[in-house]
Amino acid sequence: MPALTQKSLIDSVPKGLFIGGAWRDSADGTTIAVEDPATGRTLTEVADATVADGRAALDAAAAAQSSWAATPPRDRSEILRAAYERITERTEEFALCMTLEMGKPLAESRGEVAYGSEFFRWFAEEAVRISGRWSTAPNGATRLMTMKQPVGPVLMITPWNFPLAMGTRKIGPAIAAGCTMVVKPATQTPLTMLLLAELLTEVGLPAGVLNVITTSHTQDICEPLIRDPRLRKLTFTGSTPIGKMLVEQSAEQLLRLSMELGGNAPFLVFGDADVDKAVTGAMLAKMRNIGEACTAANRFYVHESVAAEFSQKFAARMAAMTMGKGTKKGVTVGPLIDAKAVAKVTELLDDALAKGARVVTGGEAQKGAGYFFQPTVLADVPKNARMQKEEIFGPVAPITTFRTDAEAISMANDTEFGLVAYLFTENLSRAVRVSEALEYGMVGVNQGIVSNPAAPFGGVKHSGYGREGGAEGIEEYLETKYVGIAL
Ligand code: NAP
Repeated sequence: MPALTQKSLIDSVPKGLFIGGAWRDSADGTTIAVEDPATGRTLTEVADATVADGRAALDAAAAAQSSWAATPPRDRSEILRAAYERITERTEEFALCMTLEMGKPLAESRGEVAYGSEFFRWFAEEAVRISGRWSTAPNGATRLMTMKQPVGPVLMITPWNFPLAMGTRKIGPAIAAGCTMVVKPATQTPLTMLLLAELLTEVGLPAGVLNVITTSHTQDICEPLIRDPRLRKLTFTGSTPIGKMLVEQSAEQLLRLSMELGGNAPFLVFGDADVDKAVTGAMLAKMRNIGEACTAANRFYVHESVAAEFSQKFAARMAAMTMGKGTKKGVTVGPLIDAKAVAKVTELLDDALAKGARVVTGGEAQKGAGYFFQPTVLADVPKNARMQKEEIFGPVAPITTFRTDAEAISMANDTEFGLVAYLFTENLSRAVRVSEALEYGMVGVNQGIVSNPAAPFGGVKHSGYGREGGAEGIEEYLETKYVGIAL
């Protein structure tokens, strides 16, 4: 195999729309530039789908639905298993692709390849375990047969921060359940999804089951699809305001919905925590994906008895990180996705400083090419700072102290979001009590990362609904039908 270079990788990625098993240009021949956030330079261009292309993608998904639903579960399972193996073999290609279009360091992209592909292995195992029930009605006169059937064609809208995993955790269960799909990846990071579509075809996914449209006319293309009676489900990962708007649009057809929305994760360090363990957890919870994760720790609440030690050790680890283009050896912090992201982080930081916060380390955007922001720790961040309420989506860690458990829990729950919370304590009963009191879909105890394909990922409140992964993940793509049989 020839050596993998940036050029060879970019040249090898398909650039068209993938509709009905074939690659094609957009109907009007237009393209969208894909940028490298580490340099601000254009990497390549991909097709810019029109409204007619969007409709064609749903036509293909709708046409393939009944034969795909009738495909033996073992066949669907084998396709997923083969895809898992092929992605794993091609880890370096997928990792480089993500690093180039999204910016995260190569080591993190390799981590995402392992995490993202694991959804295919997991759902390969789930595909052959879909089952129903058989029971006798209480009056004894009829039998009740309960079966699970695929929901039908699904529209999948994914964000730019995890270009592979946010796709595989939707595509995996859809394939396993027998649903066809139209995938619309984020405009800023379409390449990984195009590479994945090609790979799925190579391992035998039939034409029409997966269709991918890249577009800059997102709203114009998605809304008619969401209002089309042939679509049966919408699964969306992205920001809460867009998610709410899509929920409104989907009311017309009463679509099944999975909404994986924004977060505002609290990170609680109790007085009896192992501080070194908490610092290691904080590094993961804050700096995974350059802070651009819905699961990113957004607010650090630290008991006053350990606050000085925690802040000092955490700041030392943050200051020791190496910022740069993710393809460079030794780089541990890549760029943010775009100039808007840098401006938002700067604005939130300035607001916190104006309200009395103090910089322990970092605090500045880097001048020059690319969208870099220093790993930053802030102390004495007041409750009214905007970053206590809003998603930072960048490498800034605000620390606030607390005295009592009740105070910590109350601050942690004081948000409309409810995706994930982290807590560090060596006291088992405190860990259980606090986990139960936190109004979140997921809680990490003494760990700074919760994502696991075998676990149900998802939130409550304004972080959305539905679960991805675990035994629950496939249920989102299945309908329950009951057949009553009179004897
Ligand atoms: P975003 O702006 O909401 O975009 C997400 C996706 O929605 C993109 O594909 C985007 O397309 C599309 N979109 C935008 N406007 C749309 C419209 N009017 N109709 C249909 N689709 C539309 O979010 P983002 O900035 O990419 O992602 C960051 C957000 O995602 C954060 O809030 C983060 O917390 C959340 N997130 C949540 C999870 C979770 O599992 N809960 C996981 C990862 C990220 P374009 O690219 O064309 O704009």
